[in-house]
Amino acid sequence: MRRRLLIRNGRVVDPAARRDEIADVLLEDGRVAAVGARLEAAGAEVFDATGLVVAPGFIDMHVHLREPGFEHAETIETGSRAAAAGGFTSICAMPNTAPVNDNPTVTRYIIERARRFAVTNVFPIGAITKDSAGEELAAIGSMKAAGAVAISDDGRPVMNARVMRRAMETARSFGLPVIDHCEDLNLSAGGDMNEGVVSVRLGLRGIPSCSEDVMVARDILLAEVTGARLHVAHISSRRSVELVAEAKRRGLPVSCEATPHHIALSEADLVPYDSNYKMKPPLRTACDVATLVQGLAEGVIDAIATDHAPHPGSEKMQEFEQCPFGIIGLETALAIALETLYHTGKVSLMRLVELFTLGPARILNLDRGRLAPGAPGDVTIFDPERVWTYDVTQSFSKSSNTPFHGRTFRGRAVATIVGGAVVWRLEPS
Ligand SMILES: [Zn+2]
Ligand SMILES: [Zn+2]
Repeated sequence: MRRRLLIRNGRVVDPAARRDEIADVLLEDGRVAAVGARLEAAGAEVFDATGLVVAPGFIDMHVHLREPGFEHAETIETGSRAAAAGGFTSICAMPNTAPVNDNPTVTRYIIERARRFAVTNVFPIGAITKDSAGEELAAIGSMKAAGAVAISDDGRPVMNARVMRRAMETARSFGLPVIDHCEDLNLSAGGDMNEGVVSVRLGLRGIPSCSEDVMVARDILLAEVTGARLHVAHISSRRSVELVAEAKRRGLPVSCEATPHHIALSEADLVPYDSNYKMKPPLRTACDVATLVQGLAEGVIDAIATDHAPHPGSEKMQEFEQCPFGIIGLETALAIALETLYHTGKVSLMRLVELFTLGPARILNLDRGRLAPGAPGDVTIFDPERVWTYDVTQSFSKSSNTPFHGRTFRGRAVATIVGGAVVWRLEPS
């Protein structure tokens, strides 16, 4: 018996095909079977998408799932449920777990746990160095064979340029992108927020933009020397965006992502000593934010990624200086992107969908992010106009560290379909 789902009468936005029109999408046995007007599918389950946007399944290439090792903060199951509720059909798991995903045993463990418990696709990212300590290279080739889609020591930079050069040479030979958390730890040491007038006024230690910029510059130079594909995680500063733009002009295989919080908030929005505003990189200036938005619109920035970083209340309730960095973001990403980019008229709906689909798929070489016949049956259905209020106490995530609790948004995911099956659907209000 064939499993068929007909998504009827939605506004299909598929950047890979440059399609933006009212159409039907038919999924069959977990894959896209057809896209077109008034499709016939006798016996298929029908999803009425009238008034809704039907897009390829969203991909979040930067998520911390905390399993194995920190299951009190998040698990592969709870993280994937939060992802589905935010409209994501695929998420990439950063390796800073305990143990660190620096060998194929951990990579396979994550894939196996995801197969059993995740409602979305989960793609592991392997570490660059053993224990992400920045010294010896991790088992890059065997992690790739086990299913890793990229390497990164995210949470930490690779401070030693010689090690990074080696890592890039190795990654290049395996065709893996290198994702760097660009931060010079000597420049950022001890900082809790962006270095500038606000940090001085609050008496908090600053993290200067140049701590990001010098590492972006170094990595671009090393990518040029090695021919590796470099992806800059959570880009946040104006100069870093300019450096990536210049690298692209020169034809280097360099890409970058921006997070929703770095485009929605600046340091001026920071609520003093509220740890839900503490993240790395820190919230920057309004000028930096404007550059990120422009970069997303014009194509310098290739993807939106959440950097979903759950921390339990016990950790985030400490004094500001003691708190860990990072916030959750899977359930609010689409709403923030719609509000900040689309409803302001700065980015078209086609481009916005691209940033969540084709953009990350291209960086990671995933055969996803499009609705062509034969492609995986991953679909995100959303309502760009839906007004709703985010209540983090109702979150699927185990953690609630977010500055967006109680905020009213315009635009929300309505249904998330993975491999032809509806894994999450917004209950009618
Ligand atoms: Zn990071
Ligand atoms: Zn991260």
